[in-house]
Amino acid sequence: MKSRPWAYVLVRLVLIIGAAVGAGLIFGYPLAWVLGSLIAYLGWHLYHLYLLERWLRIGGRQPPRDAPGIWGTVYAELYHLRSRHRERKKRLSRLVKEFRKSTKALPDAIVVLNADHEIAWVNRSAGDLLGLTKGDRGQPVDNLIRDPVFVDRLRSGGLSRPVRIQSPAQRDVSLMLQEFPYGKRQRLLIGKNVTAEERLEKVRRSFVANASHELRSPLTVVSGYLESLIEDDELPEGWRDPVLEMGKQTGRMHAIIEDLLTLSRLETAEAEAEREPVDVAGMLALVRKDARSSSGSPCSMELQLDCSSGLLGAESEIYSVISNLVSNALKYTPPEGTVAMRWWCDDLGAHFSVTDTGVGIPAEAIPRLTERFYRVDKGRERSSGGTGLGLAIVKHALQRHGAGLEIESELGAGSRFVCHFPKDRLALECASGDAQDGPDSDQETPDADNVLPFRNMS
Ligand code: ADP
Repeated sequence: MKSRPWAYVLVRLVLIIGAAVGAGLIFGYPLAWVLGSLIAYLGWHLYHLYLLERWLRIGGRQPPRDAPGIWGTVYAELYHLRSRHRERKKRLSRLVKEFRKSTKALPDAIVVLNADHEIAWVNRSAGDLLGLTKGDRGQPVDNLIRDPVFVDRLRSGGLSRPVRIQSPAQRDVSLMLQEFPYGKRQRLLIGKNVTAEERLEKVRRSFVANASHELRSPLTVVSGYLESLIEDDELPEGWRDPVLEMGKQTGRMHAIIEDLLTLSRLETAEAEAEREPVDVAGMLALVRKDARSSSGSPCSMELQLDCSSGLLGAESEIYSVISNLVSNALKYTPPEGTVAMRWWCDDLGAHFSVTDTGVGIPAEAIPRLTERFYRVDKGRERSSGGTGLGLAIVKHALQRHGAGLEIESELGAGSRFVCHFPKDRLALECASGDAQDGPDSDQETPDADNVLPFRNMS
C-alpha cells in the first residue's frame, strides 16, 4: 500500500462511507451518518494539514513525525526533498568557497561582467592589477578602466583578441586583457601581468637592433674594400672569383642587417601606424617600373587597378609590403610565368593581391612563412639572395595598419598573397591613375627618404 498511497486513501474513504451507510441502515438516518463520517474524515485531514504546516514552519529539520496514511508519505517525501536540497546547498557552497580560494590564489585579475559590461564579481588580483574592488559591483567596467584602446575594444565587442594596456593601479605594469563569453551573455575578463615578458622582449629587440647597428659600419668598410678590389685591374686572376663571392656574401649580410633593422623599427614603433594619405595606385605603378628595371626578370607583369582610393597609413611601410610581395613573386616565378598585381575595394575595405604562376609553396609551409628566417627550400633560397625576413616585415607592417595577410598556393602552379586593409584605412580623396595594365607610369616617387629601396632580386 505504501507505494500506492492514493489507492490506500480511496480504499479508506470507501470503507468509511460503507461503514457509515451500514450504521445508517442499522440505526436509521444513513445520509446523516455518511455526512457525519465525511466531516470527521475531513477534520482528521485538516488536523494533519495543520501539523504539517507547523512542521514546515519550524524548518522541517527534525525527522518527520510518525503520521498515518498518505500523511506519512507526504512527510517522508518532503523530508527527503529537504535533505537533498540541503546537501546540494552544502556542496555548492563548498564549491564556491573552493573556487573563491583558488581565484584568490590566481595571479591573474578575473572580473565577471554582465551583458551590459557591469562588474558582477572580482578576485583579489583584480584589485592589485586593475584597482577594482568588491565595492565596484554594478559599475560599468569602462568607467573604472579608462584606457582608450580598452574602452574602444570593449564597446566594439573586439575584446576576444587580447589588448595590452598599462595597469591603472600600478605604474610600469603592463597587462594583457582578454574577454571570454560564458553562460547567458556573461563575460569573464582576464588580465594577465605581462611586464616580465615585455621587458625580456624589449631586451631581445634592443639586442638585435644594437647588434645589427654595430655590424653595419664594419661591414660597410669590408664591402668598400671588396668593391675596390673587384674594380682593381691588377687583381690576380685566381683571386677574382673568391673576391666576387665575398662581395656577394657581404651584400647578403648587408641586406639581412637592413631587414633586421627594419623589423626592429616596426616592432618598437607604436602599435598603430600613422594615417598619412598614401597613393597606392601610383605606388603600384612605381613598384612595377622598379621591378622591371632592377630585377631584369623577363616574366610578364600585370597591374589591375579596380579602386581609385588610396590608404591612410605609413607610406614607407606600405611600399615595403608591396615591394616585398612583388619581389618574392618575381624571384619564385620562371621567366615564362606571369606576376599580376591587383588593387580593389569592397564593403570590407581595400585589398591588394600579388598572384604568380611560380614554383608555389607546400601547404604545410604556408602557416610558417611569416616567421623570421623561415625558408621553404633553404639551399635554393639562400642562393637566390633572399634574407628570409621579407614576409616577417610584411606581417608586422600590415599589423600596424590593422590589416591581414592571406596566402594561397599550389605547389608547381603558383601563389597568391592578398593584403586585406580595414575600411577605416581607406583614403577616399586619394584618387589616382587608371593605370589599368598600361605603360609604366611616370607618377611621382614616394618620399625618397622614407621609402625602402626595392628589394634586390639578384
Ligand atoms: P626571402 O627573403 O627568403 O624570400 P621571405 O620572408 O620573403 O624571405 O619569404 C619566406 C619564404 O617564403 C621564401 O624563402 C620562400 O620559400 C617562400 N615564398 C615567399 N613568396 C613566395 C612566392 N611568391 N612563391 C614561392 N615561395 C615564396
